[in-house]
Amino acid sequence: MKSQVQPKLIIHGGAGSSLHGKGGLEAVRRSLHAIVEEVYTLLLSGVDASVAVVRGCQLLEDDPRFNAGTGSVLQSDGQIRMSASLMDSASGHFSGVINVSRVKNPINLAHFLQSSPDRVLSDYGAAELARELQLPIYNGLTDLRLQEWIQERQDNFKHTMAGVVADTEMLETSNAGRGTIGVVVLDTYGKLAVGTSTGGKGFERIGRVSDSAMPAGNYATSYAAVSCTGIGEDIIDECLAAKIVVRVTDGMSLQEAMKKSFAEAHDHKRDFGAIALDATGAIAWGKTSQVILAAFHDGDKIGDTLELPEGTEVGCIV
Ligand code: ASP
Repeated sequence: MKSQVQPKLIIHGGAGSSLHGKGGLEAVRRSLHAIVEEVYTLLLSGVDASVAVVRGCQLLEDDPRFNAGTGSVLQSDGQIRMSASLMDSASGHFSGVINVSRVKNPINLAHFLQSSPDRVLSDYGAAELARELQLPIYNGLTDLRLQEWIQERQDNFKHTMAGVVADTEMLETSNAGRGTIGVVVLDTYGKLAVGTSTGGKGFERIGRVSDSAMPAGNYATSYAAVSCTGIGEDIIDECLAAKIVVRVTDGMSLQEAMKKSFAEAHDHKRDFGAIALDATGAIAWGKTSQVILAAFHDGDKIGDTLELPEGTEVGCIV
């Protein structure tokens, strides 16, 4: 295949209530920009969209600041259960794992399942696959997440979600927020792919299923690709990622599809965010939550959404 398209990239490290203090903001900015830089360099070298998505997800999963892989939040019983999915627009395949434990990079399992006849595996099946692939046992628990959980247990789990990022300031204020990571890529061949990975919303019931390994939270066609973050139940109720992607696939511009979908979300009092790309190279983000921690490469430079003017719900670079 001939490489001819200018690649585009947008990533997120969650959405939620405001990042307290510049310390938190600058540290998040550094992490996100460094990952955009590394993945964009890969894209320029001509790697396939799914490969770039997987690499971006691994880097975000490995950063303890974000709620995925290392640094995942704990569920109500004090355990980590992670979910991740990948969608490749060329194969048209969605693959993923739901509530998997003791692996370093859940996105790797989702990647492996791309070519499997059984493409979404939950807890026992995902554990069995990890064993089959001889992945080393890994504990992604960080001290900060443990302290967060202990504090929430003392407060009788009054928050509906864990912190947006593992930030000590967040812990001090015990601020509710969201986590999760996502990567959306348009490669030099013009192919779109998207991946999303999460530790869940934190403090949830055992067996609760996140949107992150559903087409509601992660979806792509050859026209558009979207990764979501925020309250999973709200994302599922709106079927957000699939809705935006189908709107673009049926002819709406990405900007219009985002505007319409977020206006509906606003009316329905949803709490989430999303990042998106389309096949023309348009880059977009949207949120009903206070912040979305996203960074992107538009072909010229890196930008981010960390300090959007108050009230901004949708942004698009065409
Ligand atoms: N959407 C994720 C979930 O509900 C959480 C998040 O995005 O922070 O599991």
